[in-house]
Amino acid sequence: MEKELESLISLLAKDSEEEKELVAKAYHFAKAAHEGQKRFSGEPYFNHTFETAKNLAELGMDATTVAAGLLHDTLEDTETSPETIEKEFGKEILFIVEGVTKLGSLRYHGSDRYNESLRKLLLATSKDIRVLIVKLCDKLHNMRTLKFVSPDKQERIAKETLEIYAPIAYRLGIRKLSRELEDLSFSYVNKDGYKEISSLLKEGYEERLENLEKFRKSVTKELVKSGLTSFHSDYRVKGLYSLYKKYLKYKKDIEKIYDILAMRLMVEKTEDCYKALGIIHAAWRPLPGKIKDYIAFPKQNGYQSLHTTVFTGDGDLVEIQIRTEEMQKEAEYGVAAHELYKKEGERNINKKDINLWIKNISSHDPADIKNDFLSERIFVFTPKGDVIDLPTGASAIDFAYAIHSGIGDKMSGVKINGKLSAIHSILKGGEIVEIITNKNARPNRKWLEHAKTTFAKKHIKNFG
Ligand code: MN
Repeated sequence: MEKELESLISLLAKDSEEEKELVAKAYHFAKAAHEGQKRFSGEPYFNHTFETAKNLAELGMDATTVAAGLLHDTLEDTETSPETIEKEFGKEILFIVEGVTKLGSLRYHGSDRYNESLRKLLLATSKDIRVLIVKLCDKLHNMRTLKFVSPDKQERIAKETLEIYAPIAYRLGIRKLSRELEDLSFSYVNKDGYKEISSLLKEGYEERLENLEKFRKSVTKELVKSGLTSFHSDYRVKGLYSLYKKYLKYKKDIEKIYDILAMRLMVEKTEDCYKALGIIHAAWRPLPGKIKDYIAFPKQNGYQSLHTTVFTGDGDLVEIQIRTEEMQKEAEYGVAAHELYKKEGERNINKKDINLWIKNISSHDPADIKNDFLSERIFVFTPKGDVIDLPTGASAIDFAYAIHSGIGDKMSGVKINGKLSAIHSILKGGEIVEIITNKNARPNRKWLEHAKTTFAKKHIKNFG
């Protein structure tokens, strides 16, 4: 067996003969399909699909998803037909590969309104969350190799990643992915900021780390002395992008940021978290206002942990994050570590659970007044693939005004999925809508009966 394939298989969480065979088959299939194709870097195209699959395996995804990762570009970039994928690999893998291919055709805009719609659309259309996870791992490899792409493209791709894909990874709770996506894109989107914060981080880093290590030993001693023995600790370095945001928030006063390095304490049970917090607070004075209980009150993406910042006694302040092993895994891998994917022999993932879960995380956005945003919105497309987000029941009139008031005012007809239709037609999610304009056309008060959005109504009223 090829070494490369062997290393990929060794990463699989479970490796029954059946799963090994599936991954090996997808490996050989994709390699043959991409034969002769090259990337910008000059390396074989197959390296990209291989690295995508490797990222998936490293997240602990199942063999089906890893195989889909190997195949994710075969429909778009090779002669392979959907029928062949289905015949060779089954419906489930075809579904994932087709989903990833579709997501690739959505267009990104530098406007917040579009981006928020796009994020919601991505969450809503990926009925099987594995589609999104493959897409994110695909992005990760593209970002890691972005230096080979032309500079103008670099910036667009990096922005798209920073504004769309990294936040999605974050919402899915996959911090391991979102952190790297953020830091990679940050280095292209804001080169000066990136340089500034990197050099600040380097400054005094050794000393900071030394102090933290010393403190970590004292904490370990104190915990053992108080009867807590089953735990381990390490530390984490704050991601550059998230550090930079905090740095700006504190008006560039780096001294006010106490969690550049943070100590992490992993214990067995939830009650041990509180026990450890008590022991630590009895020995070191905590900084008021910095004690956070994300166990009782988890973050929107499911993150759980206790945070506290204490005075070490050497004039230093250190943040300590206390959690169980389980919470730690959840904090890094989020939905990728979710039990839904881990049940032995359970090929049919419970779609209802996942949809509920997606709905849950995407509706927790504080900006959302309505909880069930997704069920009350539809997403339709312009002929170029731009996403327009409208309330359920909206008509082509609303669509026209959503693009631009000038388009609404000059609307004379509409094509829905290529067919001429009535302008008051109610739109359905996923339709492609093309507005026909005429410079002599003007809004009609009758349109008011068919307009659902306040924006469209306001413009129609203004006219008459
Ligand atoms: Mn790809």
